[in-house]
Amino acid sequence: MNNPECTPLSQAEELALMKAFPSWLSDQDETIARRIFEQLVFFLTIDRNTRRCICTSCMEGFFVDKAIRPEFFKRKHGQACECPNCGQRATLLSAGKYKNFNRLTSRQRAVQIKVCQDWLLVQAGWLSRSFDCDDLAGYVDFVPFRRYAFAPGQRVMWGRRTVSWLGEWGVDGPWTRMDRIKEPFQRQPYEKEASYLPMGAANIVKSSLRYCQYDQWFDAEYGGVPGSCDWELEPFRVAYLIQYLGEYTRRPQMEILVKLGYWKIVSDLVLRRKPHGDILDWSAVKAPDFFRLSKHDFRLFRARLCCFEDLKDFRLLQRRELVKDISEFSALRSGLGDAFLLVCKGARLAGVKLDRAVQYIRSFEEGTDVMAQIWVDYLEAASKLKYDLSRDDVRLPAELMDRHDKAAAAIGIIEDEKKVKRYLARRVKLEKQFAFSADGLSIVVPGGVQDIILEGRILKHCVGGYADLHVYGKATILFLRKDSAPRVPYVTIEINAENNCKNLRILQIRGYRNDRDGRVSPAKKHAAFLDKWMAWVHAGSPRDEEGRPTVIPQSNEEMRAS
Ligand SMILES: [Zn+2]
Repeated sequence: MNNPECTPLSQAEELALMKAFPSWLSDQDETIARRIFEQLVFFLTIDRNTRRCICTSCMEGFFVDKAIRPEFFKRKHGQACECPNCGQRATLLSAGKYKNFNRLTSRQRAVQIKVCQDWLLVQAGWLSRSFDCDDLAGYVDFVPFRRYAFAPGQRVMWGRRTVSWLGEWGVDGPWTRMDRIKEPFQRQPYEKEASYLPMGAANIVKSSLRYCQYDQWFDAEYGGVPGSCDWELEPFRVAYLIQYLGEYTRRPQMEILVKLGYWKIVSDLVLRRKPHGDILDWSAVKAPDFFRLSKHDFRLFRARLCCFEDLKDFRLLQRRELVKDISEFSALRSGLGDAFLLVCKGARLAGVKLDRAVQYIRSFEEGTDVMAQIWVDYLEAASKLKYDLSRDDVRLPAELMDRHDKAAAAIGIIEDEKKVKRYLARRVKLEKQFAFSADGLSIVVPGGVQDIILEGRILKHCVGGYADLHVYGKATILFLRKDSAPRVPYVTIEINAENNCKNLRILQIRGYRNDRDGRVSPAKKHAAFLDKWMAWVHAGSPRDEEGRPTVIPQSNEEMRAS
C-alpha cells in the first residue's frame, strides 16, 4: 500500500498555510525542548570554598558555598550531581575545561504542532542546543525541514533540501510540495523507530483532528505511559505521529477502531501499511459494514471473539469454504483458548473443514495446546516434504506424534545434514552421561534441533533459542518427561558445561510458560527425583550390563550433610 497521497491546494491556500507556520519556538515549546536534552551544571572555581555555577535546567547563575553544600563540592567534572539551585539531576562540568563549547552541541529530532483554523500544522526538524562562554544556559534552536498540514479529508506535505558543510548541518532553498505523506526522519539501524519530541502536542485536541485517538493508540502500541499521554507532564518521544495523522485524514474509522479496542488494525495500517482491504471495508461508515459482516454476525463477533486475528482466520477459512459462518466459527472456538489459532492454521494447511480439525485435535488424550502445535509443525514439515496432503491418513494421522517426529527428522536431514551428523556423536555421549529413569520420570536427551525448538514452542519458553548452542556443545539442554507420556514436552533443563562430572549442576529448570500462573516450580515438585539423578551423574553415571542406570543409594554421610 502507498503512503497517503497529498491533496491539491490553490496557490492562495498554499500561501496562507505557509505563512501560518511558526518561524520560532514559543516559550512553551522552548520549555519542553530544553527538557529533552541532558541537563548540565557548569562551574568555575572562585576559591577553595566557592563555586560559581550555571544550570541548564533552571537557567540561572549562582554561587555555591562549601559550608552550605559540602556534598556538592565532592562532585568532580563529568560526575552526576544535583543542581544546588533547583535540585535537578544533572552532569557537572568544569567550564574551564572548554576552549570553545562546540563539542557540547547536541541535536534532537522534534516536531512543532500548531492549529490554524481547520488545519493542524506540523513542522519537523532538528532541535539543537549549543553553548558559548557568554551563554552557558544553552542556546536552543529549531530548524524545520518538513512541513505538514492536516484537516479531515485533506493532507499536504512540503520539504526543504538539507545540506551539510564540513560537519555543519543546515537547510537550503525553498519549500516544495511533496506527492505523498512520509515520516520526516529516517530510522537508524540501532533504533526500533525514528521517534521524536512533540512540542505543542496538546494542540491536537484543539484542532479539527481532535478525535483521532493518537494518544490512546500510542499508549496501546507502545505502553509505558501510565494512564493516557499527558503531553505536558514531561518530555518524551512519540513515533509515527505523521503517518498516523496522514492516514486518519483519509480513514476516519480509526477513531472507532481504537475506541472499540481494535488498535492492532490501526497498527497494521500505520506501522506496516497494511489496510487489510480484503477483510475490511474502509469506505464503510458503520462498524458492521466496515468488518463486512451483517449486523447479526457483527454482534456475535463482538460478543464472542473481539479479536481481529480471529476475523482474519475466519475469512481465510471461509474463502476456502472450510467454515460455514461466524456462528459455527465462534462455537468451535469455545474451550480451545490459545490452541484455536493453531487449529485454524492447521485446518488451512491441511485443507480440512474447521469442525473436523477441532474434532481431530480433541480426539487426543494430551492437551489441545500441545497437539495443535505438533499438528501444525507436522503439516508444515509435510508440505515441505511434498507429502500428499489431500489424503486423510496423511493430513489427519492417528499416530500424530510418530509422524511428526519422522517428518521433523526428515526435514532436519534436508535442512542441515552436517549439523545432524555432528550432533550424533554428541548425542550418544550425552545419553550415556545423562539419560536416566526412576519413579515414573525420565531424563531424555534431545534428538536434534527440531526437538528443542518444539519443546520451547509447546512449553512457551525460550529454550528454542538454545537449539543450535546445544547441538554445537555450547549449552546442554535436557528434557524431563513423564514415563506415561514420554514424548510430550514437560520440563526443560539446562546443565552447565563441566569436564568433571562432580561439578555438574542444573543451571535452569523450566516448565510451561516458565512456571508462571502460580504453579509449583518443577525444581520443587521433582526435587527428590532430581537429587537422585544428580547424585548418579556426580558418581560418574554408572550403568549395569544392560545399560540401565544403577541408582546410587544416598550414603549416610551425604544424608547428614544435607
Ligand atoms: Zn538548576
